[in-house]
Amino acid sequence: MNVRENLESLLALQEIDSALDTAKRKYAALDRGADVRHEYDTAKSEYDSAEQLVKLTETELSDAQLECKGVEDRYKSEYTKLYSGKITGSRELQDLQAEVEMLDRNAHRLKEKVDTLAIELDAKRLRASELKQVATTAGNKLRKHLEKFNKAAAIIREEAASLSATRTEAASRADKTLLARYESVRVARGGIAIVVMQEGEVCSGCRMRISASLKQRVNACTEIVLCENCERIICPQTKKD
Ligand SMILES: [Zn+2]
Repeated sequence: MNVRENLESLLALQEIDSALDTAKRKYAALDRGADVRHEYDTAKSEYDSAEQLVKLTETELSDAQLECKGVEDRYKSEYTKLYSGKITGSRELQDLQAEVEMLDRNAHRLKEKVDTLAIELDAKRLRASELKQVATTAGNKLRKHLEKFNKAAAIIREEAASLSATRTEAASRADKTLLARYESVRVARGGIAIVVMQEGEVCSGCRMRISASLKQRVNACTEIVLCENCERIICPQTKKD
């Protein structure tokens, strides 16, 4: 390969590498949905807590209902006993009367507790169903976002894979010594190792004016010429440019 062909093969490589860099930047800049995920996690955890409260209140209510039923049953049986005529001793009757009154008070207190818990349970169920709706909406939003992200990521990965394959092929055709120089300048100079000399003879890498002697050497195309300022490889404008 002559110098011009070598430079052209490096330019082609530079184009692929820049496209790969752009793909990498695009991939890194993709919105991975941290905000929507946070929104969903928060909504889900609020719903879970609300559902937990519903379960606790359900248990509390059913315990209170059971306790209330027990007291009511005891009240009924003691009340029946009190007026059965079977108890005749006045002390015994007094004690029984007192117990019936105590059971009656307890039954009332427990009924009130059951009513209060039933109202609380309704409110908690309503709250949980509202939060479930919020969590479902947030979940759908997250799912849609991830679908969109995965689609975009797959396109970029595919593009990058195809560019990488082209790059491997292009690199295998390039001169090994020149390729090594290209690679080291690329690392040192933000990804751009070879530039085309622009109208007005500036290096398009660093925008510095190229000296007349350097310009001559570039245009002669008999050697690899580096910019005196940024050390990027300078390529003459091709006819098609
Ligand atoms: Zn330069």
